[in-house]
Amino acid sequence: MEYDYLIVGSGLFGSVFAHEMNKIGKKCLVIEKRSTIGGNIYTQKEENINVHKYGAHIFHTSDEEVWNYVNQFIKFNRFTNSPIANYKGELYNLPFNMNTFYKLWKTKTPAEAKEIIEAEKEEYKTENPANLEEQAINLVGPTIYKILIKGYTEKQWGKPCNELPSFIIKRLPVRFTYDNNYFNDLYQGIPLDGYTELIEKLLDGIEVKTDVNYFDDKEKWDAIADKVLFTGMIDEYYNYCYGELEYRGLEFKSETKDIENYQGNAVVNYTEAEIPYTRIIEHKHFEDSKSDKTIITYEYPKTWTKGEEAYYPVNDDKNSQLYEKYAKLADDEDKIIFGGRLGMYKYMNMDQVIKEALNTVKEEQQ
Ligand code: FAD
Ligand code: UDP
Repeated sequence: MEYDYLIVGSGLFGSVFAHEMNKIGKKCLVIEKRSTIGGNIYTQKEENINVHKYGAHIFHTSDEEVWNYVNQFIKFNRFTNSPIANYKGELYNLPFNMNTFYKLWKTKTPAEAKEIIEAEKEEYKTENPANLEEQAINLVGPTIYKILIKGYTEKQWGKPCNELPSFIIKRLPVRFTYDNNYFNDLYQGIPLDGYTELIEKLLDGIEVKTDVNYFDDKEKWDAIADKVLFTGMIDEYYNYCYGELEYRGLEFKSETKDIENYQGNAVVNYTEAEIPYTRIIEHKHFEDSKSDKTIITYEYPKTWTKGEEAYYPVNDDKNSQLYEKYAKLADDEDKIIFGGRLGMYKYMNMDQVIKEALNTVKEEQQ
């Protein structure tokens, strides 16, 4: 065999795996169907600004091993994500914290805010929340649910909140302090010179072919390597033999503006249902860019159809059961390993993807 490993996909999972295997002397080839490397974390410098071409990516983790791992390759700034929500023209701080509660009810102390939220929750709460709507109301009460969650979530996922799994909303913190930090994690930041540099460093010294779709010549690619790491869609790999898994699609529309500052914040969410996009990203605010122009990106969620980029797996019960059937097929494979957000059909952040990739490397070495 010409290669020890063929790696399908140059996203974060494939790149970490390739790096670690290369380090221990395994010969790797990475093939990537896009013309760029890095999958969804790809950034591109335009107007002296690192543009997150596939949506805003903020690195955050509490895992020291993962934090140390990425810091071997690149440096991060001290960015703290503090998104603003715009609901019908009014601005609110996220995540749900004392600033949000002040704006809603003019409450100034945690006790005042808790009293209102507890009273609201008391009236509407359910014993065992079975879906996102019930979970959200149990967490923050109906007012915040209506203004900051319902419209955004239903746009994002294209389904009513009472048909969505509750784990999606458990990701959002609720705080009785004046702290607009969106994440609870110990470490947070944006690469000083974009995420593409991280991928370039990971893939340094490894053969990479872009604009190559594995499925266009699967037999040829399988024949040149002992093992294959596949980070594309697992149902596509098995030719949808049990049916299609569901994904959520996205469309990004970017504009370069001849002004220095458009919205004063990296992320502004539009939480009402009537506005078709979920958020506007102003890329320069992720870093300390001195550009006299600015670049903004509107993010429109959309129904995913076969052949389009799949951005989010939809991890509800129906899809999880279908995925289990594909996972059983995967378990019986000797030559192929599945990894990443699409290969494992799991809504994972970057730090989880790195952790999973390092675990896969360990398993391969046993
Ligand atoms: P991908 O990045 O999807 O890489 C898979 C690669 O495989 C792609 O390049 C694809 O083109 C290639 N491929 C697929 N099929 C084939 C084929 N047949 N032949 C050849 N190549 C193929 N995480 C965070 O931690 N913080 C954030 O703020 C954050 N924001 C996000 C915002 C958005 C809009 C999205 C969609 C995700 C966000 N994430 C965030 C998650 C993050 O993007 C993922 O955790 C990570 O990029 C997944 O890496 P991956 O390698 O699994 O997948
Ligand atoms: N969410 C919300 N209102 C917001 C932002 C997020 O209701 O203003 C919900 C929504 O359901 C979303 C989930 O919280 O899917 C997770 O949001 P996050 O910003 O972490 O998602 P991602 O960056 O992965 O799209």
